[in-house]
Amino acid sequence: MDHSVLANSIRHNGIGHHPLGAGSYYFKDNLVGWLCDRVGEAQIRIFIGAQPNSSPHMGNICNIATAFALGQQLQTAGKVVCVCFDVVDTAPTPELDGNQQIDGVTYQRSLRWSQADQVHLGQFKEILAEFSRTSGVAFAVRKQAEILASTVALEHLRNIISHRAQLGALLSPTTGHIGIHAACPVDACGLSDKGGIRNRYLENDNILFHCPVHGDFAISLRDPQQAARLELNTPMPNLLRNLLFGTDPAAHWIQVIGADYAGFYQEQLLWRPIGAGDIRLEKLPLIVYSPQILDWSGVKLSKSLYVEPSAYSYLRGTNLEYMLSYELLRASGLTLEHIYRVGYHWIDQPRKLFRAYSIYHLHDLLTAAKDNAKLSPLEDTEKNDG
Ligand SMILES: [Zn+2]
Repeated sequence: MDHSVLANSIRHNGIGHHPLGAGSYYFKDNLVGWLCDRVGEAQIRIFIGAQPNSSPHMGNICNIATAFALGQQLQTAGKVVCVCFDVVDTAPTPELDGNQQIDGVTYQRSLRWSQADQVHLGQFKEILAEFSRTSGVAFAVRKQAEILASTVALEHLRNIISHRAQLGALLSPTTGHIGIHAACPVDACGLSDKGGIRNRYLENDNILFHCPVHGDFAISLRDPQQAARLELNTPMPNLLRNLLFGTDPAAHWIQVIGADYAGFYQEQLLWRPIGAGDIRLEKLPLIVYSPQILDWSGVKLSKSLYVEPSAYSYLRGTNLEYMLSYELLRASGLTLEHIYRVGYHWIDQPRKLFRAYSIYHLHDLLTAAKDNAKLSPLEDTEKNDG
């Protein structure tokens, strides 16, 4: 069967609907006012993060645009805002056998060990700088080492480790171990036990890591410089971050995260550990989910690590190719400012924020932004579905 013919044979009337339900019902008119009511502090820090393992695609860029648009509207409401971009440079390097099995244990070499993150980090910084200029919101870039090399972070980490039996079962359902690892210090090795399977936690706050080639090496949790070498699996920094944010006396943090992390993931891997007993927070997490950008099948545009090289070949050479990378966007005639305008519209009219967008509909919105037209000109009236 020719699937392209089948897909193209489906026609629609071009009318986008905004049925109101759940978040889009309760926050449809005023998300910024709700957030300001939750935040007593004048200083707000907006967290965003990404693994710089590919050129930023439309999903990444829309997430960043949404964060700055939220920041601009919070500043208009009287807050002082900074967008903080966390570089998840401890993620695996796709080109270096991202994940390899040795004696039944999975090892990785991180982006920061291979320095593969540098290739794409420049593009992320360019995008941040441009959105900062457009929005008037300041930004900062933080690497994992900077986050871990603080005494407060290490205090929280030691607390997590002391509850590792309970938290390992919650945060790593397949292994039961908490996902702390570190690259083997031997030059040109860099292997790290991704699941923390063979770690030993010593009484003196040392973690003994194991390299399958070079044996054991220790990192002290009392030494911020050593601890800067730690690498954490996604649910771990998520929990650690929320502990840091929830106890930060200087600012209130709002996280802007892609909507693929909403729902079951966050409920089980963040809210459950926070509610599990010994973890206490003064300020509960405040998370705004940015709309997912979906391909033809309804799945999010994915990072290069998880897709075949031939993925999205149906977009190559079409006028939607720019969705796949920042380089292609720059060559398309559409700009970051057009994307920002769409993101601003989502925050300004939040009933349009609590939903996903197909690449086809997003293209219509971006084209309208470029033509200085009203966004979503073909919208139907909204209906209460909730
Ligand atoms: Zn080694």
